[in-house]
Amino acid sequence: MEDDLHRVQRCLLNIWTGKPVGDRYLLLPPIFDNGEFMNKELDDALCAKYPKIFVERNLPMNQTCMCWGFDHGDGWYNIIDMLCSNIQHTIDQRIENNERDAKYVAMVRSAQSGDLTLFNDYYHWAANNEKTLEHYRDEVLKADIGGVEFWRMPKEEIPQVVAEQIKEKYGTLRFYYRGGNEKISGMVEMAESMSGVTCEVCGSVGKTRGGGWVRTLCDEHAESKV
Ligand SMILES: [Zn+2]
Repeated sequence: MEDDLHRVQRCLLNIWTGKPVGDRYLLLPPIFDNGEFMNKELDDALCAKYPKIFVERNLPMNQTCMCWGFDHGDGWYNIIDMLCSNIQHTIDQRIENNERDAKYVAMVRSAQSGDLTLFNDYYHWAANNEKTLEHYRDEVLKADIGGVEFWRMPKEEIPQVVAEQIKEKYGTLRFYYRGGNEKISGMVEMAESMSGVTCEVCGSVGKTRGGGWVRTLCDEHAESKV
């Protein structure tokens, strides 16, 4: 449902950018950016692939800037796709590694106390190979449990990344979020840097150009956009 305020805002935006923006709402005219949004198909694709990162995509505008969508051109889709893929993998892998390590420690403990149930489950892939099983059984039974616990100590979980605003500013991508860790912060910096050499319209190699609004465009789109 589009109320009067939204309609006025959308009209202002259409005048400002010279083109319709569909059902996108902006609280304010895009004074500091070019007012372009990634198309709905690409927007939907990212939200479907990374539901945890874009969990706030459809919250109301008084709760998140993500309600405005991806405030940049289609050409940066791959950068955001790869960034989110790496972010989510890093978070999920930490959880999986901790679960695997906890399972290993529990298996060694129970094997050393005489119960081989968890051992047989852990090495089920070697069930038909008695020589291999014997090798691992020997290793597990002789293991120093203190050392095993130390090396397989659970690592701190990485807080889930939640996108708060994604936009173009001064010609490059800005990916504002909460959660993550130092490694993820580096990934975001890298992605933002890549946008400085990637055409915001088509994704080809581009460069940041001044004149009017600062934008990163390929030669072809620089002709028509700047
Ligand atoms: Zn281009």
